[in-house]
Amino acid sequence: MPWLGSAVMPLPLDAPRWVGWSDEMGQRLGLEQDDAALAQLSGATASLPWPPFAQVYSGHQFGGYTPRLGDGRGVHLGERNGLEVFLKGSGPTPYSRGGDGRAVLRSAVREFLASEALHHLGIATTRALAVIGSDTPVWREEQETGAITVRVSESHLRFGHFEYFLYTRQQSQLEALIEDTIDHHFAGVRSESDAKLAWLVEVVERTARTVADWQAFGFCHGVLNSDNMSILGETFDYGPFAFMNRFDPGYICNHSDHEGRYAFDQQAGIGLWNLNRLAITLTPWLDETAIRQALACYEPVLVERYLARMGARLGLPDPTAEDLPLIAELLNRMAEGGLDYSNTLREFAQLDPTSQDTPLHRRFAGVAGFSDWWQRYQQRLGGVDGLADWQARRSEANPALILRTHLAQEAIAAAEQGDNDPLHRLHRALCRPYDPEPEFDDLRGDAPSWSQQLTLSCSS
Ligand code: AMP
Ligand code: MG
Ligand code: MG
Repeated sequence: MPWLGSAVMPLPLDAPRWVGWSDEMGQRLGLEQDDAALAQLSGATASLPWPPFAQVYSGHQFGGYTPRLGDGRGVHLGERNGLEVFLKGSGPTPYSRGGDGRAVLRSAVREFLASEALHHLGIATTRALAVIGSDTPVWREEQETGAITVRVSESHLRFGHFEYFLYTRQQSQLEALIEDTIDHHFAGVRSESDAKLAWLVEVVERTARTVADWQAFGFCHGVLNSDNMSILGETFDYGPFAFMNRFDPGYICNHSDHEGRYAFDQQAGIGLWNLNRLAITLTPWLDETAIRQALACYEPVLVERYLARMGARLGLPDPTAEDLPLIAELLNRMAEGGLDYSNTLREFAQLDPTSQDTPLHRRFAGVAGFSDWWQRYQQRLGGVDGLADWQARRSEANPALILRTHLAQEAIAAAEQGDNDPLHRLHRALCRPYDPEPEFDDLRGDAPSWSQQLTLSCSS
């Protein structure tokens, strides 16, 4: 669909070099980590194998509509083995709006690690093939160096693509885009009597499941603008994201988000708000009742998924909505005690639920009301058959490692000095987040106090 964007050549990076590489994505794309790939993916090869292009889109940013956004710092290289390859940080495009078209090394590394981390936790996300570093100077608060994340997904379509064609009154292009999206990525809804409606329902459900996963794993996206919402329901466009350390329901990871629009406990509502923006683009074809019906699928799917995740984490058999207060009360006590979210839940992998003295009791020592909670929890479980097996399943549901901000920061600091080993090691560990390999024990502790000072902004 040529009207979706403009042909644009990447601006090559100076002295490009590999910083990170995913063997799995290399295999899926049939690409080797060699000099030819480095030249192509850093923009240096004059004739790329695929004609590069940047796409136009728009979107609601922090609640307000921006009529024209687009790939301002990246180009698509077309498809390989059913996967789109996108260079993020490859220089200016017609959509740069005065920006330099670059990404700095720290943000490229963060996107690479986050894509790998979320995928291996079992959360839908865009993938990353590689990070390419360079000597190209890029100015943010201070001088840094430019880098490219090679991002990979079946589709880079955002809610904002659909909004762009609605608000520029290009209805036939909008319909062609919807039909093409259905054909290429949602073929299963073709047989439904109203394919557009069934497609909307599917996007609503996928989005609900992904948001539920974020809530269950303590992940905060940071910039849930409608142009950062994937039509496939993948976690998309990593910026100032963070996995929470201490549990704080109102946690805001994005330093520039002064109102807390994208705070951790706002994400579920924002997911639905963004789906409303997408649903509006279907008003030429669907009536209000149909649209309301599709959007009404969001909450039950979100709750079901959240319950499945949290039920597995806590070991609640056949969790239902009646378990939500039990889960919420544990979280409230965690917040009161300032306890680490992920590591507290990981204790369930070593827990004997029939005991009155567990690693969990030691964590919650001094937090009022924990023994009441424990009693209710024991009643709910009603005993456990086969403790080792029960613990093994808790260990498959509660990661022993998450991508904490300070871990990424330490790997980035080394990479900025030319040492990529810590990054490669962290990458390896994040590909097995549920395995308690002693080799990676030093990465598992609660966040050190110095990391509380780390701030993340949109340039992250
Ligand atoms: P984001 O906050 O990353 O979702 O970006 C919002 C919009 O700003 C998108 O259209 C990006 O392509 C564009 N953008 C972000 N950073 C830059 C940059 N350094 N140069 C040009 N465009 C950018
Ligand atoms: Mg974006
Ligand atoms: Mg971004």
